Amino acid sequence: MYSSKYLELLIEELVKLPSIGHKSAQRLALHLLRAPREDALRLAEAIRAVRERVAFCTVCGNFTEQDPCPLCVDPERDSTVVCVVEQPVDVLAFERTGRFKGRYHVLGGALSPLDGTSPEDLRIRELLERLRPPEDGGEAAGEIREVILATNPNVAGEATALYLSRLLEPLGLRVTRIARGVPMGSDLEYSDQVTLARALEGRREVE
Ligand SMILES: [Zn+2]
Repeated sequence: MYSSKYLELLIEELVKLPSIGHKSAQRLALHLLRAPREDALRLAEAIRAVRERVAFCTVCGNFTEQDPCPLCVDPERDSTVVCVVEQPVDVLAFERTGRFKGRYHVLGGALSPLDGTSPEDLRIRELLERLRPPEDGGEAAGEIREVILATNPNVAGEATALYLSRLLEPLGLRVTRIARGVPMGSDLEYSDQVTLARALEGRREVE
């Protein structure tokens, strides 16, 4: 239907992106065609660079250009506390508060029967691996003493925190949940720094 099969190919690719319908894809493709050539190629190059140079940290699951990531190897950070979050954006949110100096663990989502996200889809096995004491064959030095459950305060995030607290209970660690300073139903990444810092400071033991 287009006079160019390349234009059609581009639209086909754009339509695969989240929340991009056919009309938006068309508009974006035509925009890229009309935009200065350097701008369009810069976008192509940025996509290539991010795919070639950025990967997931095999320890915490955050995005990184080096594995393990700087947050996992920084000797200034407290290796006895791990903050469990849903997404890499949540790590950014906590880092912005400047109040957390421990390590992170990114799950890659939250439990949601509706979207079909089950425990196997999240990095829970990797978390258990990090918590396994060395005498049990764990690679980590068994240093972790507290796990902060910092999943989002919405239905899926609460379900995930509950699931993890039950799972971690027998390990004899301190398991805490961030306080309700963050409004229920919201995403951590949109919380302001003060609210997030308070939620972290007000964390309580999970019963
Ligand atoms: Zn890492």
